[in-house]
Amino acid sequence: MSDFDGLRALVTGGASGIGRATAELLAERGARVAVLDLDPSSVEKPLTGHRADVTDDTSVREAVAAAATDLGGLDVLVNNAGIGARGTVEDNDDEEWRHVFDVNVLGMVRAARAALPHLRASAHAAIVNTCSVAATAGLPQRALYSATKGAVCSLTLAMAADHVREGIRVNCVNPGTVDTPWVARLLDAAPDPAAERAALRARQPTGRLVTAAEVAAAIAYLASPLSGATTGTALAVDGGIQGLRPRPE
Ligand code: NAD
Repeated sequence: MSDFDGLRALVTGGASGIGRATAELLAERGARVAVLDLDPSSVEKPLTGHRADVTDDTSVREAVAAAATDLGGLDVLVNNAGIGARGTVEDNDDEEWRHVFDVNVLGMVRAARAALPHLRASAHAAIVNTCSVAATAGLPQRALYSATKGAVCSLTLAMAADHVREGIRVNCVNPGTVDTPWVARLLDAAPDPAAERAALRARQPTGRLVTAAEVAAAIAYLASPLSGATTGTALAVDGGIQGLRPRPE
C-alpha cells in the first residue's frame, strides 16, 4: 500500500509541463487523477481530461464536479494552471494585468471554491498551489507575473489558516526555471535560442534547469499523507537559486 493508493486528485493545467508531470507521477504511484485544462486533448488514460478555462467560473465548477463524480470524490487539488507575463509596470496595460491576475490568482480561487466541498469529505485533503521563486526574488522584467505569484503565496498561507481545523492542508511549491514547453517557447523566441539556453543554465547554481519531474515530486509529497503535518509552507524547487550565491566561474 503506497501513500498515494486510492488518493483522488485533480490537477489544473495538467495537460502540459509541471501539471502533466504531476498528474502522471500521481497516477504512477497509485492515485486516481483527473486533469482540468484549456486543451485536455493530449491527456491519455488512466488520466481523465476535463476541458475548462480557469477564468470562467461556470466551466471550472462543471469540470470540478465532473472530476469528483468520475473519481468518486476528491482528496487533492493541485492548483497549477498559470501563464507568464514579461515587462515592467510600464509595459503591461490594465487589461493585461487583469487577465494575468484572472488566470494565475482568481483561477486558483475558483478551483479551490469548487473543490472545497469535496475536500471536506476527505480524510486526507490537500491543496497544492504552484507558486514561483518570482514571488520573493525581485526578478527584472517580471512585475506582473511576480505580483500574481506573490498573491498565490499569500493566498496559500491564508487558506492554510482558514481550513486547518477542517483537516485540509494548503501548501505551495516555488519552482525556479523549469524545463517545460513554456520555457522552451520563451527560449525559441530569442534571437539565438542556443546561446540563451546556455546563459540560462549558467545562471543556475546547479548549472542546469529544474525538471518538471522534480517539481512534480515536490507537489506529490505535499499532496500525500507523507506530509501530513505540513501546512502553510512554500517548498522551493529552484536548484538553489534563491538561497545560494552564483557559482564562481
Ligand atoms: P505550461 O505552459 O507548460 O503548462 C500550463 C498549462 O496550463 C497548459 O496545459 C495550459 O493549457 C494550462 N492553462 C493555461 N491557462 C489556462 C486556463 N485559463 N485555464 C485552464 N488551463 C490553462 O506551463 P508550466 O511551465 O508547466 O507552468 C505551470 C505552472 O508552473 C504555472 O502556474 C507557472 O506559473 C508555474 N511555474 C512555472 C515555471 C517554469 O519555469 N516553467 C517556474 C515557476 C512557476
